[in-house]
Amino acid sequence: MRRLNEVLRERFGGKVYRLSLSADVTCPNRDGTLGTRGCIFCSAGGSGDFAASAALPIDRQIEEAKKRVAAKAGPDCRYIAYFQSFTGTYAPVPYLRKIFTEAMAPEEICALSVGTRPDCLGDDVVALLSELNRKKPVWVELGLQTIHERTAEYIRRGYPLAVYDDAVRRLKNAGLEVIVHVILGLPGETVEDMEETVRYVVDPRTDPLTGMVRPAADGIKLQLLHILKGTDLAEEYLAGRVPVMTLEEYTALLLRLVPLIPDTVTVHRLTGDGPKRLLLAPLWSADKKRVMNTVEHALRNTERRILL
Ligand code: SF4
Repeated sequence: MRRLNEVLRERFGGKVYRLSLSADVTCPNRDGTLGTRGCIFCSAGGSGDFAASAALPIDRQIEEAKKRVAAKAGPDCRYIAYFQSFTGTYAPVPYLRKIFTEAMAPEEICALSVGTRPDCLGDDVVALLSELNRKKPVWVELGLQTIHERTAEYIRRGYPLAVYDDAVRRLKNAGLEVIVHVILGLPGETVEDMEETVRYVVDPRTDPLTGMVRPAADGIKLQLLHILKGTDLAEEYLAGRVPVMTLEEYTALLLRLVPLIPDTVTVHRLTGDGPKRLLLAPLWSADKKRVMNTVEHALRNTERRILL
């Protein structure tokens, strides 16, 4: 398994932290274009509850975000400007050009990362990201969550899988790096379903009708399903319709999924951390240190067994 920290160290020569910034945009699942209630699991903060305030200009957001990581970051630390909340490309191109350019401008910012949806990546947006990518690396993070249409419908994702394939193909053709978010533990999904999703993301795919190849992702973020207060998923959970995994089950699941990821695909995340003040379940996930220790220990033991 190739981990993000290792890749960042090799690539940028030292410690790199993400600064969560806000692009002050919304999302088609919320503004009435596709829906108004958002994805079933998404918090009011648009899955970016750690981001700096959208009311601040970008340079101030960077300063605020740096303060949050100041205790860990040293003086020579570099940063990735990360637009995580809502749909980071859901705005007119001149506006996106302005905020992304501002975010990339400081010397200490070594890359730009933009979280978005595959259906919000018109050719003009891809062209802008590609142009910016010639100045500093640009990563595009896609919230796929699952490849299974029945689950996609249940979570109200709002686009079919073919849109994902098309977006990845165009982003890769434009020279951009693609990181894909997958949620583990979505209601109704079996371990085999999740294995299929991970394989789909990390392997290239040839369309049987057109013969066109959709490349593999460059990175993957595996994220445990968090049930957050105020979401429609929380209502489903409180009605007893959403089972949640134990830490042991989640660890066992990762032991099945991680070996499917080749070293050409960077693992950006193995758990994800939801905002504690909103977390309804599973509560064990709030203890990030214990979760990571348990997961790391299990992965190390498995690697050791394989090497023996
Ligand atoms: S998860 Fe993303 S696409 Fe879904 S409602 Fe939230 S911001 Fe919109």
